Amino acid sequence: MVVPHLTTTLPETLRRPVINTSAGPSAFVPFSEKLGMPLTKQPISILQINLGRHCNLACTHCHVEAGPKRTEELSPEICELLITAIDRFPQIETLDLTGGAPEMNYGFRPLVEAARSRGKAVIVRSNLTIYFVPGFEDLPEYFARHKLRVVASLPCYLKDNVDKQRGSGVYHDSIRALQWLNHLGYGRDPELILDLVYNPPVPIAPDEFRLPPQQASLERDYQAFLHEHFGIEFDRLLTITNLPVGRTQQFLQRRALNRPYLRFLAASYNPKTVADLMCRNELSVDYHGNVYDCDFNQMENVPARMVDGTPLTVAKLLELDDLDVIREVQTRPYCYGCTAGSGSSCGGALV
Ligand code: SF4
Ligand code: SF4
Repeated sequence: MVVPHLTTTLPETLRRPVINTSAGPSAFVPFSEKLGMPLTKQPISILQINLGRHCNLACTHCHVEAGPKRTEELSPEICELLITAIDRFPQIETLDLTGGAPEMNYGFRPLVEAARSRGKAVIVRSNLTIYFVPGFEDLPEYFARHKLRVVASLPCYLKDNVDKQRGSGVYHDSIRALQWLNHLGYGRDPELILDLVYNPPVPIAPDEFRLPPQQASLERDYQAFLHEHFGIEFDRLLTITNLPVGRTQQFLQRRALNRPYLRFLAASYNPKTVADLMCRNELSVDYHGNVYDCDFNQMENVPARMVDGTPLTVAKLLELDDLDVIREVQTRPYCYGCTAGSGSSCGGALV
């Protein structure tokens, strides 16, 4: 299918008012102080695994700093430990696979099949364009066969905004991929869930600092546009805030915007988001088998710790025969990105 060139005028929903950023450095309150209490862990129900840094794209906002030249990935030994954990702990309801492009890294299919055969829900965080890379063309059918929930990045419904963040031609391939998924029943069959992910452009000046627009209204805009122009259907739009981590942080630092952006996020703190922060009921695991409270902490090398301060690994969890050994989530200043406005998580807005 030929994807027509469409207007790049910024739609109304995306022209959100900018929040005041004039607060000086003295206004910045450490995140832990702002919370006023320890961020406690709840019973673990989600195991998120970052399979590695290899990816066919190299997006400007990537907090993982993934790309085609990165080679770090899961080893067969750690993959086996993870399968043992999936088998051992019935409380794991969902396996959430991310990367890089998770499909390109070792362990993707063994983990999918281990989890699905034990009745777990499996999320694949897919960049869509991978289905056109030689050797990966069977992925959409594989996803449908195993009833994976696809969470796909599409940071705008307009071509120029997507290609600017993700690379030339990405919008075109993403549209073709979404049509392919629809053809297989994704976004139509209640068992084949297809969610899209929006994140704002990375700001190049303080007057461009933005939180995601209201999730429900932006979802309506995405649905109307993608259906009208391409016949595409999907289930939900998830809006995610850019946290100053990875390439986003480097980009902001080059422009001396890191601290102003953190102050912007802090000024938008919403205490109602805290109850549902994703770090409270998930574990995030890296390709070495180290355990973190979330993928952002993983990228910043902030390990999850047991009560005595020991960093956690999957091997240790298996030895203890217990997933609920973390009392307190490790927080850092970038946590303000998860609590700003309507909140942000791998599952979209929080309130
Ligand atoms: S944002 Fe996703 S698709 Fe883009 S480089 Fe990072 S892992 Fe790959
Ligand atoms: S970055 Fe977000 S998800 Fe991670 S620990 Fe901080 S608040 Fe929790």
